[in-house]
Amino acid sequence: MKEEMDVSKTLPFDLSTLEKLTQTFETPFHIYDEQAIRDNARRFLRAFDWIPFKQYFAVKATPNPYIMKILKEEGIGADCSSMAELVLADRVGLTGAEIVFSSNNTPADEYRKARELGVTINLDDISHIDFLDREAGLPELLSFRCNPGSCIRGKGNTIIGAPEEAKFGLTRDQIFQAYALAQKKGVERFGMHTMVVSNELDMENLVQTAQVMFDLAAELSHKLSICLEFINLGGGVGIPYHPEQQPVNLEKWAESVQRLYEKILLPLGMKNPTTLATECGRVITGPYGYLVSRVLHKKAIYKDYVGLDASMADLMRPGLYGAYHHITVLGKEEVPHDFCYDVTGGLCENNDKFATDRMLPPIEVGDLLVIHDTGAHGQAMGFNYNGKLRPKELLLKPDGSVQMIRRAETLEDLFATLDFKGV
Ligand SMILES: *Cc1c(COP(=O)(O)O)cnc(C)c1O
Repeated sequence: MKEEMDVSKTLPFDLSTLEKLTQTFETPFHIYDEQAIRDNARRFLRAFDWIPFKQYFAVKATPNPYIMKILKEEGIGADCSSMAELVLADRVGLTGAEIVFSSNNTPADEYRKARELGVTINLDDISHIDFLDREAGLPELLSFRCNPGSCIRGKGNTIIGAPEEAKFGLTRDQIFQAYALAQKKGVERFGMHTMVVSNELDMENLVQTAQVMFDLAAELSHKLSICLEFINLGGGVGIPYHPEQQPVNLEKWAESVQRLYEKILLPLGMKNPTTLATECGRVITGPYGYLVSRVLHKKAIYKDYVGLDASMADLMRPGLYGAYHHITVLGKEEVPHDFCYDVTGGLCENNDKFATDRMLPPIEVGDLLVIHDTGAHGQAMGFNYNGKLRPKELLLKPDGSVQMIRRAETLEDLFATLDFKGV
């Protein structure tokens, strides 16, 4: 019963520091560990130091300027897929080639913004060549998002599913047509992108993505004489939400990619060899964020419930995907986990639960619970259904001090778009 022992999930704070912190910052909040984010970013980049490499942080994972700034300082750019994300990246001081615009079903004004900022544009469909040309003009450098369909053998996974069932990207055949068309329209420089996995922990699937892309790059080189400037392997590298899971060995992954690169791409003998990029979100910040919440109520009916002051508005993944997030009851780490609870929020939705049938130590009203791995796709996914307000975000700095990097929403924020005067 490894989970009961809570062996592999550590915390950068203890009960007394957090209790003190909640005197200044009321729960619920997400708190991010800056030093751990920096250390991890360095390790990630070091794994790919055998090649000119750029990692673009998927802004949607944690769209907070402080986090983006920290990553920028570590040499990480931004992967944007909406107007808001482009504006955020711009306001954080990221420029041009430090930003990739990897959107789908894209409106014209977003393409215009992307062109204005001079970011690298990655098209999700062949029809968008003409659309972009008409609405914003074609850039000199263009990338296409490839959906390799059934050449990825795996069964896909629960978030993105099998590639053929996913709405993203161009088919293999369209890829060739798209580059040819763009060439005809005067585009001279090219990149290629894919994103076919999500929260993937299986090394084989991650490496296979690179293999499919490299094979395709070689074919493009032979058939259309296109020398890709970069191949963007996308995001989707998983993290061990469950204490029994192992993290992806970044160094081993990068080494396998290197071997494939040397086998498939180097023999092409390009004058300017293809560089590599990734646009990971989750694996960059996910494990270094924590949702801290206090127990408001206990309820014993057909099952035992623990009600938190946080809800699906603060963290949607368990409710949306049935995703596992580990929970630590602070100060009771060593107490036997022999009580079974559903840990819930207060939304009028029965799936507003952080955990179902979870073995935990005995919980009392007022206990502080830490929900792990909320550093990516946590606060960002929050929503206002039921008029729930989204929480604040805190940054635990390397010197141990804590800074609020986003305040909690207020009722005024929630009502800001309403017109009471006309009522
Ligand atoms: C969501 C997304 C990512 C990041 O995914 P992670 O699972 O956070 O690594 C990268 N690229 C695109 C296009 C995405 O939609």
